[in-house]
Amino acid sequence: MAALPLEGGCLCGALRYRIGAAPLWTGYCHCTSCRRSTGAPVTMFVGAATESVAFTGGERAVFASSPGVERGFCAACGTPLTYESDRFPGETHFYISTLDDPQSLPPAFHVFYEERIRWLEIADDLPRHATVTGRADGE
Ligand SMILES: [Zn+2]
Ligand SMILES: [Zn+2]
Repeated sequence: MAALPLEGGCLCGALRYRIGAAPLWTGYCHCTSCRRSTGAPVTMFVGAATESVAFTGGERAVFASSPGVERGFCAACGTPLTYESDRFPGETHFYISTLDDPQSLPPAFHVFYEERIRWLEIADDLPRHATVTGRADGE
């Protein structure tokens, strides 16, 4: 597992974050909302306890992408960084790609696999869940 704290930030460098406790889980998300939010065919999340998270530097703006869901991004450059939902109280999810060392946190499963783009094949043997079941605490 990666050394703590985990650190990352946005493209312009203004908004930085630190995760001080061991991550709760990692996973790919193939959902349409993440795709539109990031412009990428698939995204990778690390789940962190919100109480272990600190932001420094710039301003984190939020967009309520659906009821009970807030997606956070850098107010200066627009880089998407976080996902928070009433469905996962006490958790802040970060895009692994925004970590300074994304190599250290490989995803452990796939969620919303039924919404995937079919021309992208990821060659692994990780569990593939049609929606959100199969998260570390959502079996
Ligand atoms: Zn920025
Ligand atoms: Zn998603």
